[in-house]
Amino acid sequence: MIPIAKPHIGEDEKNAVMKVLESGVIAEGTKVLEFEKAFARSAGAKYSIAVNSGTAALHVAMLAHGIGGGDEVITSPFTFIATANSVLFTGAKPVFADIEEDTFNIDPDKILEKITPGTKAVLPVHLFGHPANMKAISEIAEDHNLIIIEDACQAHAAKFNGSCVGTFGTGAFSFYPTKNMTTGEGGMITTDDPQIYEHAKLLKSHGSKQRYLHEILGYNFRMTDIAAAIGIEQLKKLGMFTNARQENAAYLNSGLKDISGIVIPCIRQDCEHVFHQYTIRVTEDCKVDRDALIKVLNENSIGTGIYYPLPVHKQPLYRELGYTDSLPVAEKMSREVVSLPVHPSVTETDLDFIIKTIRGICE
Ligand SMILES: *Cc1c(COP(=O)(O)O)cnc(C)c1O
Repeated sequence: MIPIAKPHIGEDEKNAVMKVLESGVIAEGTKVLEFEKAFARSAGAKYSIAVNSGTAALHVAMLAHGIGGGDEVITSPFTFIATANSVLFTGAKPVFADIEEDTFNIDPDKILEKITPGTKAVLPVHLFGHPANMKAISEIAEDHNLIIIEDACQAHAAKFNGSCVGTFGTGAFSFYPTKNMTTGEGGMITTDDPQIYEHAKLLKSHGSKQRYLHEILGYNFRMTDIAAAIGIEQLKKLGMFTNARQENAAYLNSGLKDISGIVIPCIRQDCEHVFHQYTIRVTEDCKVDRDALIKVLNENSIGTGIYYPLPVHKQPLYRELGYTDSLPVAEKMSREVVSLPVHPSVTETDLDFIIKTIRGICE
């Protein structure tokens, strides 16, 4: 079986966890601080705040900026539900702007159409590891005085114009096992703003800097030293993981290009794509439909994923909340996309087999 995702855990991670367990300090301690510093350095951000999930990172980022009831936050409908839910958690309203067909990311022109006097922030997602158009989004944010919070949960080390994602605004990363690096469960916030940094630190730990003195309403979103020890080792390997993903994607691209009806992933100029997912589109012009293609791939032990089969505004939860948007690009993409294995454990033999299998069905 070639799985669609596989965490890459080695002896270094195991040894680091054992050391923490033996130290007796297993909740938040010095390892978390060390991981925060190392992550900030690698992302080119002034500060990082570790939390216990990517969802918590988004939630805290929203709250740290004072986003709440009465505010609108413009985001992508083509993402994991946590993106939009982080807005709901604060009492603010997610507003969906349609996406670009080639990058699957929020379309800056569509953001403009959704701005109202209530708009407080824009929340782009760097989906599948391809940066959103941060030049256009930064200009819009500047013109309309909007906060930028970046959902970089799939885009560790991805770059736009030479800068890492998560540094154009406040960034939120995830370390879930399927992501480009993992801590089991975990998340990280990046910021250059000392006030956001201080506020986020209070929010993640019961509003408390000094033990049993609580300044604001906070949560328990702390990361453990066990998780941070894994993260420190994973971060050292992130460059290697990213190279492997990019090489696998380039190999798939050259093997799958020119198949009628199959659209391979694009990489925009000035963007470094880190291929959290390698996602193709099976369009109407393809000889087989997407479900038939997936069936044959799975029968041949090739793992696949549909990210995402239902855009957020069409989810039962959002229907219930009264969303009736029509977002045709996101809706079309959800019918056409299929992701193929691209993670660092995929071998050249695996890639050749994937390419041969797809060509066998589609040609
Ligand atoms: C994984 C993910 C999240 C949430 O991260 P968790 O660590 O699972 O809470 C949010 N947004 C996107 C785009 C993700 O892929």
